[in-house]
Amino acid sequence: MEKLCRPNIWSLAPYSSARNEYAGREARVFLDANENPYNAPFNRYPDPLQLELKEAIAKVKGVPAENIFLGNGSDEPIDLVYRCFCQPGTDNVVAIEPTYGMYKVCADINDVEYRPVLLDEHYQITAERLLAATDARTKLIWICSPNNPTGNNLDREEIVKTITGFEGLVIVDEAYSDFSAQPTLRSELLKHPNLIVLNTMSKAWGCAAIRLGMAFASQDIIAIFNKVKYPYNVNLLTQQQALEALKDPFEVDKWVKLLLEERSRMIDAFRLLPICVEVFPTDANFFLARMTDAKRIYDYLVDRGIIVRNRNRVQLCQNCLRITIGTKTENGELIAALRQY
Ligand SMILES: *Cc1c(COP(=O)(O)O)cnc(C)c1O
Repeated sequence: MEKLCRPNIWSLAPYSSARNEYAGREARVFLDANENPYNAPFNRYPDPLQLELKEAIAKVKGVPAENIFLGNGSDEPIDLVYRCFCQPGTDNVVAIEPTYGMYKVCADINDVEYRPVLLDEHYQITAERLLAATDARTKLIWICSPNNPTGNNLDREEIVKTITGFEGLVIVDEAYSDFSAQPTLRSELLKHPNLIVLNTMSKAWGCAAIRLGMAFASQDIIAIFNKVKYPYNVNLLTQQQALEALKDPFEVDKWVKLLLEERSRMIDAFRLLPICVEVFPTDANFFLARMTDAKRIYDYLVDRGIIVRNRNRVQLCQNCLRITIGTKTENGELIAALRQY
C-alpha cells in the first residue's frame, strides 16, 4: 500500500475535527465545535464517518461497515483514487474505452495520463489487452460493468484475471449492477486486496438528487480515503434520506422489475423501427441503439421535448443513441415520436 500511495498522502496527518476527537461516548453538552446551540437538528455537524448509515448499507449490500466509504456521489471516490494514489505528471491509469466520462475528466484534472484500451466489436475486453497497456507507473485500471454507455456486462473471468494479474488497484464501477443478473464483485473483496467496487444511490435506488456514492474496498484503502476526504463530505439531509430509502429495499426490487419489463418492451419496439439499425445487448436500465442518423433523430426528439443521449461522437458508438428506461408513459411517448419520424 505504501508503494501504491502518493508519498505526501501516505505521510499526511489528516485534519482532526471536533467530531472525530469526541467519538461516540455518551455526552450531554456539546461546546466543542463552535456550533450555534439553536436550530436543531441542523445546527450540529453530521457524523464525519456516517456510521449509522454504513451499518444500514452493510446489511443491504452484504459488506462489513469497515469496508465501506461513502461520498458525495460516486464522483467523490472516483476523484479520490486519483488524489490518493496517482502522482500528477508521473503516474498513469488504464481504462476500457468507451466508458463513463468521469474517469477521464478526473485524470485530466489531476494531471494523470489516461490510457484508453478499445473494447472489441462485442464491447468486451481481455485481461491480456488491459495488462499490456500498463507499465511500472500504472496505478489504476478502470472497469465499468455493466458498462456505460454500451450497457453490457464485461466478462467476469477477464475482470478477475485483470485484478489478480495487476500490481496496482482495479476499480470496478457497478453503478448498474442492481439491473444485472451477474453476481457482484463486492462479495469478493477479501480475495482481492487491490479491488475497489463502486456503487451509487443514483440509479436503481432512485436517489440521484441526494448525491450518495459508495466505495467497497479493503480497510487499508478505506483508511486512506478517510484521511483525504473533506471532513463532513456527506451532509445530514443526505444521510437521513439514504437511511429512509434503505428501510425499503423491496421498493427498489419492484422498480427494477418494472424497469426490466419496460426495457424488453422498448427493445422489441426499437427493433421494429425502420430507422433503428441495431439494438445492443444490455444489463442496465438503458440500452444503446444504432440508428440510421443519430444526430438528426436526436434533434427531432429534442424539438418534441424528448431528450435521449446522443453518443454519436463516442468511439465504437457511431450513430448510437443511449435510451434510459422511463415510465411506461414516457417510453410510449418516445416510441410514438420515433414511429412518426
Ligand atoms: C450514473 C453513473 C454513476 C453515478 O454517479 P453518481 O456520482 O453516484 O451519481 C457512476 N458510474 C457510472 C458508470 C454511471 O453511469
